[in-house]
Amino acid sequence: MTTRRSVAIIGAGLAGTTAGLGFLDAGFDVTIYSDRDRDSLRNKVPPTGVGVLFGKSQEWDAEIIEDLYDVGKTTGMSVRLYGGAGEDRAPVLEYDPDYGYVAAAVDLRLRADDRLGRFLDRGGRFEVTTVGLDNLDEIAGGADLTLVATGKGGLSTLFPVDESRTKYREPQRRLLQVTLKGVDHGPDVFSYRSQAGAGHSLYNLDSENGELFVGPFLHKDEGATWSFIVFAKPSGAWAPRIDDVHDAVTARRTIAGIFAEFFPEDAPVIEQLEVIESDPVSWLKGAVTPTVRQAVATTKSGHPVAAIGDTAIAVDPVAGQGAQNTLIQVAELVKAARAHDGEFTADWLADEFEKHWERRGHAATEVTRLFLGDPDFATHLELSFPAAAVDPNVAQALLGLLSDPNPLLGLRTREDVENFITAVAGEPFDQVLARFAPAGQFSAAAPAPLTV
Ligand SMILES: Cc1cc2nc3c(=O)[nH]c(=O)nc-3n(C[C@H](O)[C@H](O)[C@H](O)COP(=O)(O)OP(=O)(O)OC[C@H]3O[C@@H](n4cnc5c(N)ncnc54)[C@H](O)[C@@H]3O)c2cc1C
Repeated sequence: MTTRRSVAIIGAGLAGTTAGLGFLDAGFDVTIYSDRDRDSLRNKVPPTGVGVLFGKSQEWDAEIIEDLYDVGKTTGMSVRLYGGAGEDRAPVLEYDPDYGYVAAAVDLRLRADDRLGRFLDRGGRFEVTTVGLDNLDEIAGGADLTLVATGKGGLSTLFPVDESRTKYREPQRRLLQVTLKGVDHGPDVFSYRSQAGAGHSLYNLDSENGELFVGPFLHKDEGATWSFIVFAKPSGAWAPRIDDVHDAVTARRTIAGIFAEFFPEDAPVIEQLEVIESDPVSWLKGAVTPTVRQAVATTKSGHPVAAIGDTAIAVDPVAGQGAQNTLIQVAELVKAARAHDGEFTADWLADEFEKHWERRGHAATEVTRLFLGDPDFATHLELSFPAAAVDPNVAQALLGLLSDPNPLLGLRTREDVENFITAVAGEPFDQVLARFAPAGQFSAAAPAPLTV
């Protein structure tokens, strides 16, 4: 008789629950250790992020669990950019391509809970305990494979920062996330911006202050809702407003205020949105220092443990890469472990992380730097944004990087970017760019009817 190989997983967010279900179904004996019980994970904490899965990452996720969700799907994005400050601030450009893929925005608490439910039904063990370094040593001593999935905080400091892969030392944006209800996902919503209506998300950029994402969302209890993320540049006018947010009501008020002042075209729709009273933790504020860690460490008795999810690679959410990167890392690790005969040594785990870095991790961090407007990508943005405004194929290729960021790694020089635009547009890049003229004005939603 053969005994099943055992896996211990610390943390029951998206990374931990996905790994739990994946390893269980691959024939391992799995225990998840979580500092919160199932009800608390689902109902007492905010979702760690919006967790939009743009296109391809869903193929890896399908190796772990079938798609259970109909709501929150989008097929494109309406992007608008305001440039300049003060009196010179003006609409610069916009584009609204179909992605060429489907994106899915589902409450991460629901995704994790559905995974945990299946895990438990199929015989997985779930222990509620806060794991520290001492009991991690004990747990790792008793398991064939130990994975740490405690997110950006938790046990992450066990894994040294990889200085060569970590490009920032502080957060690049202040973040505010909230889910609101009261507007459906129909074809008329935001139709002044996109023929797809609520089939496309919105992404508003302001060269001085940051970015704002608005997208159709599947809330765990309320269903069809809208998710918002403010990405505030630390030096801009939005960042201090986030300091005043302390609940969903103030989050909503702050976001409505930013729209009224900076994106008045959208304000009449935003004003109709309401907080979800049944979910007082439907909001989150904070900041992420983008960090890549050495994803294998040893406990004090010398047992190797591996980091997955945000514990291994934490990115700013501006390019929506964190959850996607997590799902790809986990699905590939499950397959590799199933096919592996020997011990799960530190070397084996480190090799698997290197494969993940090559497959997705590196590109995920680079596309995040692109969308953060990192100076290393100034040329990319200077050329591709105006090109996207006049050529839908370029716009689609640019947003294609959210689904598969790897093509970005091949675009290093100005010439690379020019050639890319030429190839995608099917005409010389300079002809494409010659057609660009500043937007001057954006179409706007009709004002909300006055109620007397
Ligand atoms: C504002 C925002 C928007 C985002 N939008 C997107 C997006 O659109 N697309 C995308 O792909 N990604 C997005 N992300 C990133 C995504 O949310 C994360 O990458 C993902 O949720 C990380 O999951 P995780 O399981 O690694 O970590 P977590 O969700 O943080 O889970 C860690 C778990 O471990 C538990 N834990 C911690 N310490 C211990 C301990 N000592 N013992 C036991 N348990 C412990 C915690 O309670 C928690 O349940 C966004 C992030 C943010 C902040």
